[in-house]
Amino acid sequence: TIILGLESSCDETAAALVTADGRILAHRLATQEEAHRPYGGVVPEIAARAHVEALAPLIEAALTDADMTLDQVDVIAATAGPGLIGGVMVGLVTAKALAHAAGKPLIAVNHLEGHALSPRLSDRTLQFPYLLLLVSGGHCQILLVRGPGDYARLATTIDDAAGEAFDKTAKLLGLGYPGGPQVEKAAAQGNPKAVPLPRPLLGTAEPHFSFAGLKSAVMRAVQSGQYSKPDIAASFQQAVIDCLIDRTRRALTQADGMTALVVAGGVAANQAIRAALEQLAADHGLPFVAPPLWLCTDNAAMIAWAGAERFAAGLIDDLTVPARPRWPLDPAAEKARGAGV
Ligand code: ATP
Ligand code: MG
Ligand code: FE
Repeated sequence: TIILGLESSCDETAAALVTADGRILAHRLATQEEAHRPYGGVVPEIAARAHVEALAPLIEAALTDADMTLDQVDVIAATAGPGLIGGVMVGLVTAKALAHAAGKPLIAVNHLEGHALSPRLSDRTLQFPYLLLLVSGGHCQILLVRGPGDYARLATTIDDAAGEAFDKTAKLLGLGYPGGPQVEKAAAQGNPKAVPLPRPLLGTAEPHFSFAGLKSAVMRAVQSGQYSKPDIAASFQQAVIDCLIDRTRRALTQADGMTALVVAGGVAANQAIRAALEQLAADHGLPFVAPPLWLCTDNAAMIAWAGAERFAAGLIDDLTVPARPRWPLDPAAEKARGAGV
C-alpha cells in the first residue's frame, strides 16, 4: 500500500510518498521562509498563494523521485487542519481532486496527528500507548497516544506555544524568522544562568504550560541593556527546558503502562530540549523516542504516515470532509477547559 501525503497548513508546502510499512519513497518540501521574512512571521494571504504555486510541481517531483505514476498510489492523504485555512484548503482540495479523479480513498489528516504519529515512522518498534510531548509553533501539549484518532490530552498551554515563545524571543533579540533554530544557535554561545527569568507554573498542581510571562521577562531583559544576546538566548532556552521537564515529569506520574516518552513537533528539533527529555526518560526507566530533525518540523512524510495509520484502522473520509482552522486531538479535554485552550 502506497500513500501520497500533502502538507500545506503553515509556511511549508510538501508532498511525500510513504508505504504502509513505513518506507519513505519520496519526500519533497518547499519552504516559504524567504517570502515571509520581511514581515517577521507568516502572512496568511502570501502563504495561500505560495501553496497554490508550489504544490502541483512538488507532487510531480515526488512521483518522479519514486519512479511512479498516480495510478500506483493507493491512498491520498492531506492535512485538513488545524492551520491557516487558506493554505489548508489548497492541500485538501488538491487531495480531493486527485482522489476523485483517480478513484482512490481520501484521508483527511489532523496536522497534530501527523506530528504525534511521526515517531512511529522513524522508529517502527515504537508501540502504543506512549506519552507524547507535542511542542510546535502553535501547540504545547502532553498527550497519551493510544492509537490513530485516540488521544487523551493531559496538558496544554494557557497562553503561548513553546515554538511561539522561541519565535517571539528571536524577534526581540533581532535574530530574525523563523526563530527557533536561531535562538538555539545563539544559546550555544551564552550562559544559561546569566539572566534571571521566571519559570511560569513550575511545581504547581496545575498540569498546564504558560510562556507569556517568560516572553515579557525576556523583553525586559533586552530593554535593560544589561545582557548579551547569547546570554539572553541561553537563559530563555533553559527556562523553557525547565518548564517542559517539570510539566512532563508531572505527567509521567499519570502515565502508567506507557511504552516510551516521546517528543514531536518543530521545537523537538532543539538539541538541548531533546537531551533534557532523554535524561528525564532515563530517570524513569523509559525508552526515549524523538524523530530525526527533518521529521520534527513540518513535512508531508508525517502526513502520509498518519494517512497510512488511519487507513489501516479503517478511518477513511468522505470527499465532503471540511478544512478546519481549529481541530483539537482530544475534543473532550478542549471542551472541559473552554475555547482558546
Ligand atoms: P503547529 O504544528 O502547531 O500547527 P507549525 O506547524 O507552525 O505549528 P512546526 O513546523 O511543527 O510548527 O514547528 C515550527 C516551530 O518550531 C517554530 O515555532 C520554530 O521556531 C520551532 N523550532 C524549529 N526548530 C527549532 C529549534 N531548533 N529550537 C527551538 N524551536 C524550534
Ligand atoms: Mg515552518
Ligand atoms: Fe506543525
